[in-house]
Amino acid sequence: MTKKVAVIGGGIVGCITSFFLVEKGYEVTLVDQNAIGQEASWAGAGILSPLLPWNYQDTVNNLCFGSADFYKQLSETLKKDTGIDPEWIESGMLIYDIHEKNHAISWCQKNHIEIQEVQIEKIPYLLLPHVAQIRNPRLLKALKIYLTKNNVVMMEHQKVKPISDSNNFISSLHTESGMNLQADFYVVASGAWSSCILNEVEMPKIKPIRGQLIQYPSIKEKLPYILYKNDFYLIQRQDGVVLAGSTKEDVGFDKRITEEARKSLQMKAESIMPILKNYNIENQWSGLRPGSQDNVPMIERHHKYNNVYLNVGHYRYGLTMAPKAARIISDLITLNG
Ligand SMILES: Cc1cc2nc3c(=O)[nH]c(=O)nc-3n(C[C@H](O)[C@H](O)[C@H](O)COP(=O)(O)OP(=O)(O)OC[C@H]3O[C@@H](n4cnc5c(N)ncnc54)[C@H](O)[C@@H]3O)c2cc1C
Repeated sequence: MTKKVAVIGGGIVGCITSFFLVEKGYEVTLVDQNAIGQEASWAGAGILSPLLPWNYQDTVNNLCFGSADFYKQLSETLKKDTGIDPEWIESGMLIYDIHEKNHAISWCQKNHIEIQEVQIEKIPYLLLPHVAQIRNPRLLKALKIYLTKNNVVMMEHQKVKPISDSNNFISSLHTESGMNLQADFYVVASGAWSSCILNEVEMPKIKPIRGQLIQYPSIKEKLPYILYKNDFYLIQRQDGVVLAGSTKEDVGFDKRITEEARKSLQMKAESIMPILKNYNIENQWSGLRPGSQDNVPMIERHHKYNNVYLNVGHYRYGLTMAPKAARIISDLITLNG
């Protein structure tokens, strides 16, 4: 008999987990308290790499390696099957601050990542030519259609109540509107809200870290690469719009945008690319990252509930980590099912 999996959270982590589970033949229900794909995964910049990978632990990088290739193929499939192009582009990333040049170069060599020393107008930079980007709102829109076509049942606007049971096995979860979710396995992929679903006392806390971005309109000048300087980046989409980001704010579940962030991002953007002074900022938004210690997520079976799996806490790189993380969870479920 086909086994059932309920995935709690329809961000990129929940969507890609559903993608692999359906591929393996599970009957999948994807539940979200809002609409699918409207939280952090929608709000992000779509860069498919850690910003300066040499600054992160192997655990983080190992989850990120291969992600750009996965999304390249997925984009082609989604474009063909849904008509929506998620705009995967190998933009490359140009790095301005290169005080760690030697460390960066030797790390890249050791990990077989191409890195180049380049000079632009006599100023030295480092270039990671294979860093790619994807237009995440379009990716999620296309994934939602693709998953629906592939028999994933979408339950939107259904908030799942915290998990609690005296047994080691969960036979059903409940939503605030009184629905019962019965499945053989449950995957918690609830992003910044994961600690609200799990027992906060027993689990390391995943906490929301707000990130704000601003958007300039489509400009006629072309950015040759993603530009990175001092934890700040500029990224251009295919239609010419430019995003500048992002902030990292420990303000709880508060998604308000602020004037302070707008000014600070604008100042950084226009100092790197003065031509942007000729354009008005046309949009600003925020998302809540699922903050975890050192960006290390929890991708494992719950220590108490044998049929509950965690795919949470991907912090700054959830889009990039989602394919590997989802593969691990779907393999674990198969192994135990
Ligand atoms: C400004 C910004 C820039 C970023 N840039 C990048 C980048 O360039 N590259 C990159 O790799 N990452 C980036 N990130 C990080 C990335 O967006 C996140 O790590 C990733 O989106 C996390 O995915 P998720 O599916 O876990 O969370 P989310 O997308 O937040 O999804 C979680 C979902 O769970 C649902 N949910 C929560 N609780 C419940 C409940 N009780 N019942 C039902 N549903 C529930 C929520 O409604 C939500 O839809 C960025 C993030 C921000 C904010």
